[in-house]
Amino acid sequence: MSVADACQLCSEAGGDILWQDAFCRLVLVPDADYPGSCRVIWKRHVAEMTDLDAGERGHLMSVVFAAEAAVRRAARPDKVNLASLGNRVPHLHWHIVPRWRDDRHFPDSIWGQAARAASTRSGPDGEALRSAFVEALADVQGSN
Ligand SMILES: [Zn+2]
Repeated sequence: MSVADACQLCSEAGGDILWQDAFCRLVLVPDADYPGSCRVIWKRHVAEMTDLDAGERGHLMSVVFAAEAAVRRAARPDKVNLASLGNRVPHLHWHIVPRWRDDRHFPDSIWGQAARAASTRSGPDGEALRSAFVEALADVQGSN
């Protein structure tokens, strides 16, 4: 069994696919505490940003920045967190997480100890996020 065979992000989408191209995919992550959370997942099994060549890195980050812009527009958070960890799933992916001052973990990371009870918050549907992303991606790529 190869590493890729055992890898969750090689065998599963990792969320509802909102957009994809030949290199990466944007998926919506169902999370009641952080509605609008999404991930950009590199399709090829690599662990680190420096496993990509310069062109690939630029492409991945333009997709991440477009996802951040889409989350800002569609979810209207107080802050957006971008994170690439991969300690549990060492397959290159970025988290785009909308944050609110009264969310469960603010001001700590969402992976830390909860600071308060969850607040009820509704988020954007996948279609709203997808269309905001497509517009933002055109802006990001157009400014290169
Ligand atoms: Zn993988």
